[in-house]
Amino acid sequence: MSFTPMMKQYLEIKKQYNDCLLFFRLGDFYELFFEDAVIASRELEIVLTGRDAGQEERVPMCGVPYHSAQGYIARLLSRGYKVAICEQVEDPKKAKGLVKREVTKIYTPGTVTEEFYLQEKTNNYIIALAEKDEIIALAVAEVSTGYLGITSVDSAKIDVLASEIRRLMPAEAVVLKNFKNSTLLKEINGIINYLETMPAEEIELPFKGSGASEEAYKILISYLKRIEPAILSSFGSPDFYQIDSYLYFDESTRNNLEILKNRGDNRYSLLGIIDFTQTAMGARKLKEELTKPLLSLKAIIDRLDAVEILVSDYELRENLMQNLKNLYDLERLSIKLVCGTVSPKDLIKIKQSLPPIWQIKNSLKQVKAKSVLFAQIYENLSDMLEVYNLIDKSIIDDPPVSPKDGGVIKTGFNPSVDEYRKAREEGQEWIINYEKKEREKTGIKSLKVSYNKVFGYFIEVTKANLHLVPKDYQRKQTMVNAERFITEELKHYENLILGASEKLANLEYELFCEIRAEILKYHEDLKRAANAVAFLDFLISLAVAAIEYDFTKPIITEEPVLEVKNGRHPVVEKSVGRANFVPNDLYLDTNENSLLLITGPNMAGKSTYMRQAALIVILAQIGSFVPAEYAKVGLVDKILTRIGATDDLAKGQSTFMVEMIECNNILRNATKRSLILLDEVGRGTSTYDGISIAEAIIEYIQKKVKARTLFSTHYHELTSLEGEMPGVKNYTVLVQEKGEEVKFLHKVVPGKTDKSYGIYVAKLAGLPREVVERAYEILAKFEDKGLNLKDEKPIQLAIFEEKPEPQGIIKELIELDLIRMTPLDALNKLFDLRQKA
Ligand code: ADP
Repeated sequence: MSFTPMMKQYLEIKKQYNDCLLFFRLGDFYELFFEDAVIASRELEIVLTGRDAGQEERVPMCGVPYHSAQGYIARLLSRGYKVAICEQVEDPKKAKGLVKREVTKIYTPGTVTEEFYLQEKTNNYIIALAEKDEIIALAVAEVSTGYLGITSVDSAKIDVLASEIRRLMPAEAVVLKNFKNSTLLKEINGIINYLETMPAEEIELPFKGSGASEEAYKILISYLKRIEPAILSSFGSPDFYQIDSYLYFDESTRNNLEILKNRGDNRYSLLGIIDFTQTAMGARKLKEELTKPLLSLKAIIDRLDAVEILVSDYELRENLMQNLKNLYDLERLSIKLVCGTVSPKDLIKIKQSLPPIWQIKNSLKQVKAKSVLFAQIYENLSDMLEVYNLIDKSIIDDPPVSPKDGGVIKTGFNPSVDEYRKAREEGQEWIINYEKKEREKTGIKSLKVSYNKVFGYFIEVTKANLHLVPKDYQRKQTMVNAERFITEELKHYENLILGASEKLANLEYELFCEIRAEILKYHEDLKRAANAVAFLDFLISLAVAAIEYDFTKPIITEEPVLEVKNGRHPVVEKSVGRANFVPNDLYLDTNENSLLLITGPNMAGKSTYMRQAALIVILAQIGSFVPAEYAKVGLVDKILTRIGATDDLAKGQSTFMVEMIECNNILRNATKRSLILLDEVGRGTSTYDGISIAEAIIEYIQKKVKARTLFSTHYHELTSLEGEMPGVKNYTVLVQEKGEEVKFLHKVVPGKTDKSYGIYVAKLAGLPREVVERAYEILAKFEDKGLNLKDEKPIQLAIFEEKPEPQGIIKELIELDLIRMTPLDALNKLFDLRQKA
């Protein structure tokens, strides 16, 4: 049996869009068939039915009404599916035979440009990856804002690229079918699109780069071209960036420090408390900047200087903020312009955003001599007066969303529009009079002239009055309580009105398209202005945060120091209240004070203190003021942390294993300019093991890395390292004891403690009194016996001590390549060695 003609058409189209769920337009519905229907009915929770398709069995089908498709599409996109919209591209009434259908639009998670499918304050990235000649490249686009970037690393530095992918959190990724890099494939698992082969068609390269960069670019562009060719013209020249030109920190550090998201029951994240942006553009910018603080001294200082001006000039700040508040999302609007999806309402939004831009320019004019950044922003704001004037005189102030139904063009803009409108009005007036006239003529008081889409204009008479209906009324339709009629006269005016309306709508749409095309010429100006106000919004937000939380301008230096007076953790402070937060000092360098060993009981504030140091560095390096009375921040190239509980347990690794993997990463990646935070390393194993590992790690950092390090521990045995190992300094968190009561003072001071107050914390946690009391008894017994781990100092492995060069058989043994040896080789070698012994 062969398929019905419609099903053949469906299958033909579906073949070309196999990677998408095909929404196939049938009348007022989008229908999905076969596997697509099964998936959609499951994901959208809609009924799965069947349709006769010329086969023995009905094919699975489900559908959504076309006017409410958006919500369904959004849901599918959020689950990672792609959707191709197949429309009827000719009028079904005029079609001979099967209506022609074509895919008119493809939606994918990483390429959507309409607000409806996007998160306002978050960038939505799509990436492509390529590997060639030992280089791996990543091309990244934010389609809704027209951003395109390219970066690459040596294949050996794959972890850095993996971490960059996690920073971007792309919604989609594209690679060639033969891309085999398993580490990266793991990163993009679930969001991958495969391209069969390197795109054959010519894609012009706007740059000369490594083979891998060029390939990644081509792969990305050819993918986007298929989805939405218009998008390509919105990209300027790509932004070539180096991952290592930003302060590096990985995903677990970002999560542990709660930069973007809070975890657990904390209410706030760093982003959450410092976001005072006025626009979605600014909010996206701030979020982005927080994940890639700068490494360039000059760039940071420029920002700090601009923020300082904003902090000190109340009027300037207020003025700018007021105007920013009135801006729409120009970044995304300018991309809609490029893609041709801009609506009449969007044009009004563009228009309304221009006067605030002029005001902003005006305000900046007075300060641009004081800051290079203000000068740059000023330069990037063009007036676009022509845009304003054109929209102002052509588009109605409160237009409908759709450009196709008329009601868009202002009176006075186009004479024909005015004429059609007049004709329509006259017709409508005639109808009102006609109704009055007919009531009088027939004596039917309830006679009504109405309109609907199917029948056009008609006269309605209730059943009770039917005997009064004149002869020239032609019966059209019978209702429950009434009859509907038409007359020759009515038909004549109907034609006039409808004809005028149709012509009017067509003409208005035509004019709208012309206006849109004219404004499209300014899309680069718009995009540049949008980026500039986003950046300004970001700077002002930093200034407002500085005022709100009493931050100070840090001193930035290349020297490897970190000096803080009365530093605070902005997020913890926000939750416990300013008055309850205890500020702390910090001094770190790479000589006498390169590793602070912090002992103190649980809950004393050790990790807060350590995180606070990292947050101060991050804030300083995005150009923000910092929560301290004084701060001198020597540029940090990487923040490497092992803090808090890891939730990798789901991946099947033990907590201790995860801890060790993280330590390994830290030791391998740290440089002299890094900041390392290690919280209770070694806790996940037995005491001796733990102490030994902790000490060996400290020794390694001190001897090989010399990075600024904060190391918290409750192995007080480690405090003996102070004095033994240069650079190690003991610090502790003060505790006040009053009888059985213990008070944590949260004050970090030089010194050490060997008390852990664990039982006290257990009591705080509400453990049964019996258990707590018994624990104190047992503790007392231990103390009486003088049992102390210190007495049995663990054997230390001299990993880093100089060893004598191995010789003879030992040397031969060490040099064997065991991995590549066959068992037989090994046996022969053994005989060999025994001969020599
Ligand atoms: P630790 O790492 O020593 O176990 P935390 O740093 O997690 O302790 O701190 C425990 C709690 O103590 C925090 O959640 C916070 O409520 C409070 N805290 C920590 N540091 C301070 C501080 N400097 N001022 C006030 N409260 C603090």
